[in-house]
Amino acid sequence: MGSFFDLTLQNKNLDAKIAAGLERLSSAFRVLLWEQAKEYGLSPIQIQILIFLKYHNQKFLNVSYLAKEMNVTKPTVSDAVRVLEQKSLIKKTADSIDTRSYSIQLTAAGKRMVEKTESYASSVQQLISKIKLSNKELIWDALSSLIFELNRSNILTVQRTCFNCSFFKKGIPHQCSLLNIPLQASDIRLDCPEFADMTTH
Ligand code: SF4
Repeated sequence: MGSFFDLTLQNKNLDAKIAAGLERLSSAFRVLLWEQAKEYGLSPIQIQILIFLKYHNQKFLNVSYLAKEMNVTKPTVSDAVRVLEQKSLIKKTADSIDTRSYSIQLTAAGKRMVEKTESYASSVQQLISKIKLSNKELIWDALSSLIFELNRSNILTVQRTCFNCSFFKKGIPHQCSLLNIPLQASDIRLDCPEFADMTTH
C-alpha cells in the first residue's frame, strides 16, 4: 500500500483520501490547542491534563494513567504536572498505601483555567452541528469503529468505549447490560464513566 501523501495515489483512492483528511483534521485540533496554550502560557499537554482532571474519576488521576491516556511517556507527564503544581493549578495527594504514588486534583485556580480553555475546539463542534443528522450517524459509526481498531492495534492505548466494555452485548441492536439500554450506532460512547474494562473482569 502506497503513502497517502503521494497525490497520484491519494486522488484516485478513497481510503487514502480519508486517511489524509483525518490527518488534516488532527492538524486542526493541534493548531487550536496551540493557540489556546500560547494565550495562557501553558503547553498543549498541560491543558489536556487539566481538562482530563476535571471530567474523570479519581482512580485515573495519576501519572501512569495520564501517560497512557495522552499517549506520551511518564517523564513527560511528570514534567507537565510539576509545572502545573508550580503554577498552583493542581495539587497532589499522596497515596496512603504506596507513598511514592500520588493522585492529582485541580485547585480552584485550575478549575477556572479549565473553564477558560476547555472550549478550544468548539469551532469544530459548531461546524459538525451543521452536518445532516443521517450523515453524522454514518460518520460516528465509522469513527467509533476506526478508534476501536486503532486501540486493538495498540496505537491508541486507552479507550473507555462500549466496544471494549464488559457490559457491551453484541446484537441487533447492541445492548448495554449495565444501563439496560439498546445501543444504536449513535449511542456508542467514546468515553463512558461506567466503562468496565473487559480485560480485567
Ligand atoms: S457501561 Fe458505558 S461503555 Fe459500557 S456498554 Fe454501557 S454505555 Fe457502553
